[in-house]
Amino acid sequence: MKIVDNRGAPPELVRLVDQLGQEVEGVNQVILDAFVPELRKDRAIGAFEPTAKIIIIDLGHCITDYRWMKYGALYIANVWLNMVVSVFHEFAHADQLNSDDITIEEMEQDPELHAMIEDDAITKAMTEAHTYFGQGHITPPLREMGWAGEKIAEVLNNTYKDIPEQVMEEIEVHKSGGAAELMAASSALPRFNEENIELLKENIDREQGGVKLGGRYYMTMAEFVSSTIEQSLYN
Ligand SMILES: [Zn+2]
Repeated sequence: MKIVDNRGAPPELVRLVDQLGQEVEGVNQVILDAFVPELRKDRAIGAFEPTAKIIIIDLGHCITDYRWMKYGALYIANVWLNMVVSVFHEFAHADQLNSDDITIEEMEQDPELHAMIEDDAITKAMTEAHTYFGQGHITPPLREMGWAGEKIAEVLNNTYKDIPEQVMEEIEVHKSGGAAELMAASSALPRFNEENIELLKENIDREQGGVKLGGRYYMTMAEFVSSTIEQSLYN
C-alpha cells in the first residue's frame, strides 16, 4: 500500500495509516491531502474509491468540520478526532469489500445498502477510535501535527483577540490531555445522567482519567469517544 502525503500530515496519522494498511487488505493507496476538489461538495473528511481502492483523507476538511464541538469537544481535539475517525472509517469501507457480501456495484448504486454500509463503517470507526484512545494515544502537540498544526495555530491566533479566554483554555486543556468539557458534553449527549457525571468528576478528582482546570472538568478523548458511541461505558 502506497501512502501519498501531499501536505505534511501528522506523523502519528501516517503511522496509523501504515498500521491499518498492514491489517486491512485491499487498499492500494492512501492520499493525505487538504481541500481536495472531489470532496469539496460534501466537505467530506475522507473518501474511499472502491474501484481503484484508494482512500483519501482530507486534512483541510478535518480542520473546518466542527462536528465534535457540538458535543463539547475542544477545537484541537475535534480536529484530531476527525482525522483518526476518518482513517478508521475509510479503512472500514475497504474492509467491507473484503467480505463476499458486498460488491463494488452494490456499494455504489444500491441506496438502501449504501445506508447500511455507511452505518456499519461509522460504528466500526468509533469503536476502533475508542480502542485507539483507550490504549493511551493522545492528541499530539501542534508541532507534531505538521501542516494541520500550523493551520490550527493560525485559527487560534486569529481568534485570540476576540475570545482570549477560550483560546487559553483550549491550549491549557490540550496540554493536559483533556478533550471535552464535561458539562458541555453532558448537556449535548443523551447518555449522561447525574450519576455518571458525578462518577466522572470523582474519577477526575482522584486523577484517574480527565483533568480539572480552572474549576472545570474535562474528559479525556477516550472518555469523550465512549460517551458518543452506542455502547456507552456509562450506561
Ligand atoms: Zn462512509
